[in-house]
Amino acid sequence: MAIVMRSLSSSTKSISKRHRKNYKEREKEKLAKYGPTAPAPIVNRLSTIKRSRRCIDNANHSLRKQRIARGGTLPLDRRSSDPIIEFQELTRPGNSTDSRIDEGSEEAEKRLQKMCGAVRMLLECVGEDPDREGLLATPSRYAKALLVLTEGYQIELKDVVNNALFHEQHHEMVIVKDIEIYSICEHHLIPFTGKMHIGYIPSNIVIGLSKLPRIAKMFSRRLQVQERLTKEIAGAIMQTLNPQGVAVIMESSHLCMMMRGVEKTGTTTITYCALGSLKKPEVRNEFTSLVGINRT
Ligand SMILES: [Zn+2]
Repeated sequence: MAIVMRSLSSSTKSISKRHRKNYKEREKEKLAKYGPTAPAPIVNRLSTIKRSRRCIDNANHSLRKQRIARGGTLPLDRRSSDPIIEFQELTRPGNSTDSRIDEGSEEAEKRLQKMCGAVRMLLECVGEDPDREGLLATPSRYAKALLVLTEGYQIELKDVVNNALFHEQHHEMVIVKDIEIYSICEHHLIPFTGKMHIGYIPSNIVIGLSKLPRIAKMFSRRLQVQERLTKEIAGAIMQTLNPQGVAVIMESSHLCMMMRGVEKTGTTTITYCALGSLKKPEVRNEFTSLVGINRT
């Protein structure tokens, strides 16, 4: 979260004087209306999200230029030490992420053809004949499938949330459990699947419930390790809603463990990330028992 916080503070610095004045006026109105512990009204909250996005977009733009100048990815010392959400939801500091987001239909077609060539080569390498009838369209089918399975690189958090934030005086835990997850292990490019449980305690703002599985899907449709997937989703909810706390649990089976390697089929991998008040043992226990994972 460190990078995100720095980005937010630098975005505040970039606000114009006129904007600052309006902001002060709005703050006064808010104080009068809600009292000293009032949350930012949703309109303000959304404009804060917009401002932080603008700042992050600028930062991304300058980073892209630096990367292009270097002809490679970010040097290690420029990467975040905290991988929760680096540069907002663009967690992959690579040129290919940028070019995939920015590409037009011509570039997209070139990308598809390049992928088809690579799959054809893979088929040859495993001892197959890519020209036999059953495999003729396989490179194209696989390339298209892989693009769908990684479409999360082209989706941004603000588009998923899509203003579905609502003022609500609800301060108890909200849980969406048993969200089906299908993702791809970045170490073996083999799927892992499972269930995710997301809980948060609002701080005057709630999010449309269907948005939680959508956020989970956005991050799962990227190459992942389960640990990072869990943290990214918790971090994204924290960043979007600024709730009292968030917790995410994922239980999954990894085909890379089941079909190769140790070939253990009955194992479940559980990862957990708690932020804010969900870190407190009693609150965490409430969450785990409500989602039914507290087996002790
Ligand atoms: Zn793996």
